[in-house]
Amino acid sequence: MNKDRGTLFVVSGPSGAGKGTIINEYFKKYKDDKVFLSISATTRAPREGEVDGVNYYYKSQAEFEKMILEKDFLEWATFCGNYYGTPKSAVEKMLDDGIDVILEIEVQGAMKVRAMMPEGIFVFVLPPSFEELRNRIIGRNTETLDVINERLNTAKKEISQIDNYNYILLNDNVVDAVDRLNAIICAERCRLERNTNIIGEMKNDDLSFNQ
Ligand code: 5GP
Repeated sequence: MNKDRGTLFVVSGPSGAGKGTIINEYFKKYKDDKVFLSISATTRAPREGEVDGVNYYYKSQAEFEKMILEKDFLEWATFCGNYYGTPKSAVEKMLDDGIDVILEIEVQGAMKVRAMMPEGIFVFVLPPSFEELRNRIIGRNTETLDVINERLNTAKKEISQIDNYNYILLNDNVVDAVDRLNAIICAERCRLERNTNIIGEMKNDDLSFNQ
């Protein structure tokens, strides 16, 4: 059976809300091999334990700007002084092959994607409270005080964009949030308009029986 084009899931939410954890736990729990997690490029320095080509493709500013000029990105944005961008070719190939794609990106980039691909599904991860968000960013112990404050201010601005999303995922408890992400992905995969090829083939199938 021919598959329809894959579905694009865009997951945003403030730094420290737990997007990355929810997505990683989703893959661990549901072993979903029908969805591709896009790996972004960034000029941010790797945090301890992060690996080039796994967490991000780490680029110099010049390399990143060359990629912008060569139109290698589906979208890109600056976030707290660094560039972040989604390499275009892998995402388009997956979608064309009927594979779903998850982008974990901040709000400005997500809105650019929404303008290009309004059929995508936009999910906003919310922390249970601002206090909890502050504790998580501080507890991560990977950022300087200035960066922590910049990320918290950015979080406020990001939350003001929530009305542009289709779903919210409250991260009060990672296990439940992962199950709710699975529910969103499953429900969207079942939508009639995402299964036009299967439905068309069924409708056109010749049911006559010739001995
Ligand atoms: P972090 O430095 O904490 O890894 O990421 C900072 C922010 O950049 C997060 O909100 C993350 O989702 C976002 N981000 C990561 N990759 C991309 C990308 O390719 N494009 C955009 N627009 N944002 C990204």
